[in-house]
Amino acid sequence: MWQDTPTRLLIGGDWIDTAEHLQVINPASLTPLATIGDASVTDGLQAVAAAHEAFPAWAATPTRQRAEILRRAFDIMTVEIEDCARIIVLENGKAWSDALGEATYAAEFFRWFAEEAVRVEGGFRPAPAGDKMIITTHQPMGVAYMITPWNFPAAMATRKLAPALAAGCTAVLKPAAETPLTALWVADVLQRAGLPDGVVNVVTTSASGPVSAAILADPRVATLSFTGSTYVGKILLEQTAKRILPSSMELGGNAPFLVLEGADVEQAVAGAMIAKMRNGGAACTAANRFYVHESLVASFTDSFTAALRGLKIGPGIDRGNHLGAMVSLAERDKIVALVDQATQEGAVVHEVSNAPDEGAFVAPHVVTDVRHGSVLTRNEVFGPVVPIVSVSSQAEAINMANDTEYGLISYVYAADKGAGISVARQLQSGMVAVNRGLASDPAAPFGGMKESGLGREGGFAGIHEFLQTQYLAVEL
Ligand code: NAP
Repeated sequence: MWQDTPTRLLIGGDWIDTAEHLQVINPASLTPLATIGDASVTDGLQAVAAAHEAFPAWAATPTRQRAEILRRAFDIMTVEIEDCARIIVLENGKAWSDALGEATYAAEFFRWFAEEAVRVEGGFRPAPAGDKMIITTHQPMGVAYMITPWNFPAAMATRKLAPALAAGCTAVLKPAAETPLTALWVADVLQRAGLPDGVVNVVTTSASGPVSAAILADPRVATLSFTGSTYVGKILLEQTAKRILPSSMELGGNAPFLVLEGADVEQAVAGAMIAKMRNGGAACTAANRFYVHESLVASFTDSFTAALRGLKIGPGIDRGNHLGAMVSLAERDKIVALVDQATQEGAVVHEVSNAPDEGAFVAPHVVTDVRHGSVLTRNEVFGPVVPIVSVSSQAEAINMANDTEYGLISYVYAADKGAGISVARQLQSGMVAVNRGLASDPAAPFGGMKESGLGREGGFAGIHEFLQTQYLAVEL
């Protein structure tokens, strides 16, 4: 039952109450959902102490046993997937289908890393000079501090926890203040799966800055794994630089969506609906700016607008709604302000339908006559806004796509897959979806180039974010 979700800090296997408390609000109804613990710096450091104490035994636990706990967590999540989706909907606001999709994706990280835990390879070879054997092995880093955003409260937590636990690290997880319940629920699943006390600790707080700064300054912490904005990522990198702390950064995006001459418009619109509208546009992977060949721009705009018009907007808890609420009124207002600025710059804004008056809802907007370099192409909009730029050539589309400090993901629709792959190879982004609207997969390396991040999560690379290589030189 989602109502049984813990609301206190998880430290050393116990649910600990705090002096202060924090309210979680349902953004669709703007009513209070739960009152949770509001950790102080002292609470944060207690969580570090618990993770540090649990580390030696967990690191020494055979990988098969670690893998089996992760697999049980996958099984529990799969049985209780609707509970997870319900909590996501209630605290984040997204549509039911998006929440169910996220919960399923989140659970997959436990299954994938249960499989990866036992498959980390080392190396063994004679040195070219013939004087020694070169043995390469890996050790868990130690206590991992994890900070996650509100837009995928389950998946961003499991994408870090699963590889860290598989690698033999222990963890302190700090979820976003708007969406802490999902992380607490995931931690409870891990406890029920048999995870020893102290291996995962969760601190929820309204004081992210001071609590995180104290945790990162603590010598017992060995690595940081952050998902969130590039702005906050840079603040954290300044802090981790002081201790040369390994830092994995999954940061913001500004994904271009290219529709090239000869592309199938209906297929491109179907892909765009996923790339833009999954999570109501509040995804780092969300298509943020559309570069459409001038020969297709009219048909693409008409067809996309018609598809958006078919979406039902309302509380995600009603399963018939396709587009839920933004996470907060503040987030809604940011989106509205960007659209207003676009109008002032001369773009033409078409509100496709109406959003409910109550709650943090935003209706889809299609914006035409957009100039590359204008406000909607420079900023990560994080909402259901579709800015369309007309381009006259493939080269122009590629140049505009690359003209950003971000490099997380790009989407390409081309006349055929060969042309799509050729364009993809010229795009400066860590991921490119070719003739499809979704790339994320627990089995694939997720991450960005340029200011979109450092490191990769998922795939074969994900576990190595929590391992360090050790080379043994052994006399022959
Ligand atoms: P955010 O403002 O950067 O917050 C992310 C996390 O950092 C939250 O837990 C937040 O806590 C915490 N935080 C904020 N200020 C901090 C500080 N000074 N020190 C330590 N922690 C701090 O991002 P958001 O608005 O939640 O999420 C949206 C952003 O995340 C977008 O830019 C999106 O592209 C990015 N994102 C990237 C990926 C990826 O994989 N690349 C995935 C999802 C999202 P509070 O909640 O308490 O502020």
